[in-house]
This record gives sequence, structure tokens and C-alpha cells, in this order.
Amino acid sequence: MFWAVFVLGHDCGHGSFSNSVWLNNMVGHFLHSSILVPYHGWRISHRTHHQNHGNVDKDESWHPLPEKTYRGMKPNGRKMRFSLPYPLFAFPLWRSPGKEGSHFLPSSSLFHPNEQGDIIVSTLCWSAMVTLLLGLSWVYGPIPVLKLYGLPSLVFVMWLDLVTYLHHHGYHEKLPWYRGKEWSYLRGGLTTIDRDYGWINNIHHDIGTHVIHHLFPQIPHYNLVEATKAAKPVLGKYYREPEKSGPLPLHLFGVLLRSLRVDHFVSDEGEVVYYQTDPQQYGDWQQKFK
Ligand SMILES: [Zn+2]
Repeated sequence: MFWAVFVLGHDCGHGSFSNSVWLNNMVGHFLHSSILVPYHGWRISHRTHHQNHGNVDKDESWHPLPEKTYRGMKPNGRKMRFSLPYPLFAFPLWRSPGKEGSHFLPSSSLFHPNEQGDIIVSTLCWSAMVTLLLGLSWVYGPIPVLKLYGLPSLVFVMWLDLVTYLHHHGYHEKLPWYRGKEWSYLRGGLTTIDRDYGWINNIHHDIGTHVIHHLFPQIPHYNLVEATKAAKPVLGKYYREPEKSGPLPLHLFGVLLRSLRVDHFVSDEGEVVYYQTDPQQYGDWQQKFK
């Protein structure tokens, strides 16, 4: 249910919960603070992600590393990015190599100077939630709080990282990433991937319909399925049908494993690039799963 709350706050961040900015921000803070997401910090970096989707140099969230950055990574850094379960704990603490800035600090390079006030408000709301949890641990003891909040929260962070990764990686054919003038909003949006989560689609508020969400982020979650149906005939061969899920989306773990094994970096040059595989990293995986 943390995830369901997250998607409603995600609508607020996109301004699709209400036409009122004030109401979006108030409800967004309430929802996202309750699951320890810094509302404005996340909203602004998510906006950067949407405005630059599919752009190797400017995208936020999960995007490919240029080969030079990849080669410059320390072994521990590579482990964090490519060896499970570490990548599933990335948000909100870890940023991609070569990128700086925290989601919590107003001075962070993620934000414009005139957004600093917003970041302070969100970090204060986040801190209030942490204080509430500490207070509950004081009154009821840490174990019940850990069971009822800590563990679900951990599952949520892992699921958030998995879902956001799979919406941009791991299709069975290689997807292009762009730079410079080859990038356009439409091209970038069309390289996002829809996913079928089976029984979990409903809890997910249908956010697996990710292509239409990226092309038109102003559509609220409850219209995404209908909008996808309407867009399919227009998109034609540019729409990639998601792999059908069983009741539980267990197939996605295989997709994630396969992608982490082969999708390592893109060329430093070129305006249309594809993921390449580092044979050494691939070898490590083969040994592990022999
Ligand atoms: Zn979004």
C-alpha cells in the first residue's frame, strides 16, 4: 500500500491530482511524507527525468552510464549499481556516478535557487514523519514500528527502484538512448516501456502504462489504461506490447537479472546509442549463477 500512496503523490507532483497547485502540494506532502519521500525534492528531480527522458546526458533516475564514467567507477560502485540486491536500495540516497546533489538539501545542484524554499518545507515534513516514527517507537517499542512500518517501507523502496528501472530498461530488443539534436521529447518518451504487473496492476494504480504517462504526464493515473488503448492505434509499430504477466509479476525478476547482466554502459560518442556489455562484469554474473 506504500506504493499506492506513492502513485497518488506522484499525480500531485505532476499536477494531475487537482487543478489547484496549493491542493496538489498539500496532499502531495501529506502522502509522500507519510512514506518518507521528500515531496518537492522528488517532484523536481522527477520533472527533470520527464523533461529529459531517454537523454543519456540529462535524464535523471535510471539512465545509462557513458563508458568513460563506467570505467572510472570503483569496484564497490559497480557492485551497488549492477549486483542485486544493492541497486534496489538506491532511492533516495544514492545518485548516479557523475551526478551530485541530495534530494533533501536546498543548496543541491538538482534544484533551481528559487526552489530552495520548497525543498526546506519538504525536508521539514519528512523530518516530522521521522520524529513521529521515533515517538511511536518510544511509546510502543521499536519492534512493532519496525514490523508495521520499517519492513513495508523497505519493500516499498526496493519495489520503487525495481519498477522505475524496468520502465526504462530490460526490453528484449535493445532500445536507443539519445544525445544532442537526435533527442526529442517524443523519441525519448517512446523508449519507455509498459509493464504488466498482473494482479498488482490495480494496487499500482496502473502506472505500468508508462509510455502514455511519459508522453502525457498530465493524465491522472485513473485514465491511463483508457488513454493507452486510444493511443495504441496512433503509435502503431512504435508501441511495444508489455510481456503478459501471471497473477504475480514474477517474470520481472528474470528481466531485471538479465538486464543488470548485459546493460552496462553506452558509448561516449554518438547521438543514438545502445547499451553495451562489459565482458568482465558479465563473467562475474556467470560465475555467480553457475
Ligand atoms: Zn512520472
